[in-house]
Amino acid sequence: MSFVTHLECANCGRHYPAGQPHNLCTDCQRPLWVRYDLDRVREVFPREALANRPADLWRYRELLPYADPENVVSLGETMTPILLAQRLGAELGLDNLVFKDESRLPTGSFKARGMAMAITMANEFGIQRVACPTAGNAGGAMAAYASRAGMESYVFMPDDTPVINIKETHLAGASVIRVNGLINDCGRLVGEGCQSMGWFDLSTLKEPYRIEGKKTMGLELAEQLDWELPDIILYPTGGGTGLIGMWKAFTELEAIGWLPGGKRPRMISCQSDGCAPIATAFEAGEKHAPPFENAHTVASGLRVPVAVGDFMILDAVRESGGCAVTAPESCIEAWMKRLARLEGLAVCPETAICMGVLDQLLANGTIRTSDRVLVFNTGGAMKYPDLIEEPTRHHDLGLPPDWKTLSGG
Ligand SMILES: *Cc1c(COP(=O)(O)O)cnc(C)c1O
Repeated sequence: MSFVTHLECANCGRHYPAGQPHNLCTDCQRPLWVRYDLDRVREVFPREALANRPADLWRYRELLPYADPENVVSLGETMTPILLAQRLGAELGLDNLVFKDESRLPTGSFKARGMAMAITMANEFGIQRVACPTAGNAGGAMAAYASRAGMESYVFMPDDTPVINIKETHLAGASVIRVNGLINDCGRLVGEGCQSMGWFDLSTLKEPYRIEGKKTMGLELAEQLDWELPDIILYPTGGGTGLIGMWKAFTELEAIGWLPGGKRPRMISCQSDGCAPIATAFEAGEKHAPPFENAHTVASGLRVPVAVGDFMILDAVRESGGCAVTAPESCIEAWMKRLARLEGLAVCPETAICMGVLDQLLANGTIRTSDRVLVFNTGGAMKYPDLIEEPTRHHDLGLPPDWKTLSGG
């Protein structure tokens, strides 16, 4: 059994019954929240219960939506480490700068959390065929979990999606359809195909359970930091599931009495200046984000010009006392290199954008040097070979080695 009581539209509040598949609210076409009987969870789930459970995201099962553990579809999702960045912290003047490294998850990004949960729920409902649009990592993750569950999968991707993402999705057995458009065009095709192809639409926030999977980032970091949340969380924002999910995690943890201090982080939503609908709407004080024209960024996970959960991202950011900020596209390669060389951390371009934002917020005093800052590395650098410079040295075996020229990186 689960502690889910019902689902609830994030916009109009309409209730829907648990135990059956849902997409958007049928009245207003907005996302649904999964609601739990938190009073009951509080009674039956003491924090100490975690001590004897495996180090994976299923350890929080009382706060997760599946009814039967038999239905879980898993590829061995580990708890991801939180790494202190001492050298970089010293350079930036920060006493406590940490990275939560999500690149260790199956398929190399945090998309695994959302897809593990969404495919588990699809499995529980007996769904056999799933589809989603993606501009980056979501397709590979969905395809892998779908194959693991014995389901068929269909993935629509913009033509200029990074080649590794296209190949990994194909390798995992999905039918991959490339499209001469953006992720929202791909999303429209997924929607249009539901009727004739009979697939279930797993697009970001168009089904309720990917948020529940990403929520585990918040539960996990709270536990890892001994229930003292950081002052600042920098999160690269595309569709926003991760940021929305973490904020939901903190709300639920507070409700079950696991955050005695009650202090929550300021959530910083980070976007590239090449695609910044949320940052633009935040600045303008808007509830919704108008479509961002001519979206382009090599941080493909951030190339989401229209987000169906825009108001949920903006609400979470505002409630937290945080902000939504852009960093220039031009900072990406330099930050990937700097983090790898200074800390051994191979970060994705999306995380490099967070670092550009951190620079600005330190410079303008929004973040103080005493703040405890946590940055999400949402995926690894290796999926973006085009952004990684190649070494120039080469040794010809016909010549004697010239040792003197070797040092210096
Ligand atoms: C999808 C993705 C993002 C954006 O995540 P959302 O939770 O959808 O905002 C950031 N980074 C990477 C590497 C991604 O794949």
